[in-house]
Amino acid sequence: GFKMGIVGLPNVGKSTLFNALTKTAAAQAANFPFCTIEPNVGDVGVPDARLDKLAAIAASKQIIPTRMTFVDIAGLVKGASKGEGLGNQFLANIRETDAIAHVLRCFEDGDVTHVDGRVDPVADAETIETELMLADIESIEKRLQGLVRKVRGGDKEALLQERLLKEALAVLEEGKPARVVEVDDEDAKAWKMLQLLTTKPILYVCNVGEAEAAEGNAFSTQVAEMAAAQGNSHVIISAQIEEEISQLEADEAEMFLTEMGLEEAGLDRLIRAGYELLHLETYFTVGPKEARAWTIKQGTLAPQAAGVIHGDFEKGFIRAETIAYDDYITCNGEQGAKEAGKMRAEGKSYLVKDGDVMHFLFNT
Ligand code: GDP
Repeated sequence: GFKMGIVGLPNVGKSTLFNALTKTAAAQAANFPFCTIEPNVGDVGVPDARLDKLAAIAASKQIIPTRMTFVDIAGLVKGASKGEGLGNQFLANIRETDAIAHVLRCFEDGDVTHVDGRVDPVADAETIETELMLADIESIEKRLQGLVRKVRGGDKEALLQERLLKEALAVLEEGKPARVVEVDDEDAKAWKMLQLLTTKPILYVCNVGEAEAAEGNAFSTQVAEMAAAQGNSHVIISAQIEEEISQLEADEAEMFLTEMGLEEAGLDRLIRAGYELLHLETYFTVGPKEARAWTIKQGTLAPQAAGVIHGDFEKGFIRAETIAYDDYITCNGEQGAKEAGKMRAEGKSYLVKDGDVMHFLFNT
């Protein structure tokens, strides 16, 4: 599954947000359980209204959403790259994530101390990015040393790694994150394997005051501009509102959201933004037993999409019977889609599309 790390300076609202997300009534409804695996790891069902509609048509007994994991990574402070705070443990936790949700304090409150004594989300973002860049520089220097002998021996893999590490080091030494390096397609895999912290996509989470949750404020506007300039994305959330919502029943929560001028809960927005950031999409498998959603990267071919369900589906892939989501709904299910000629047989080179209802045929 995909994993998003929640980071941020102390006192910006990370724990408030994480706790709200793990407790929220919507998340606890049968369809979208958020279960806490460890104190700081939560696994959430991705809310998707399409799945409910498919299940209703097929009279599926069970609805199983696809999942996304959030990790609350506390302990990032200035100096983390030098081992201060939780230091190295913190950095190791980030290394394992697919993307970073960076919570930024965009609320004023005299009672809540800011570590640097002022509210300035853009400066905070830079503080953290700097720590991540320093950590990358240090790890690259170590790795380059470790490669010396293999490079001398002409080892192809080592030469490739060395070239990529040096490209990353060059931009980092100019004070830029490694994500600005333009990597050729043929190097993309090796590049990803380097697991540099500053190549992870970032979702900035602007934690605004309660009254500002719908529109944001001047601080979140600054963050939006910064995010756009970096090619990252942002989302506006009030951790306090999320906390209040988490204590309500689902129907009360709905009313509360409407009163606040919000269309959906922060959890939904956070997940959707994460999906976009990671270029993820969803396909479905639907039957009387269960209706289920699966996550794939955009641009995934049918056999690899089948492999998300089970490795054997990919190995023995024969073909997929596919119905586009809209056709499934319009034709009122599989039988109707079949009769209308909307069920397609697709082969190994089929590019799965968001919302496809799939049935895989495979050899065992
Ligand atoms: P963390 O250190 O980043 O995990 O921050 P916490 O979630 O523990 O929050 C630090 C303090 O800020 C707590 O006292 C929260 O109640 C408070 N806080 C969090 N979000 C908001 C907010 O949106 N508005 C206000 N006024 N206080 C908040």
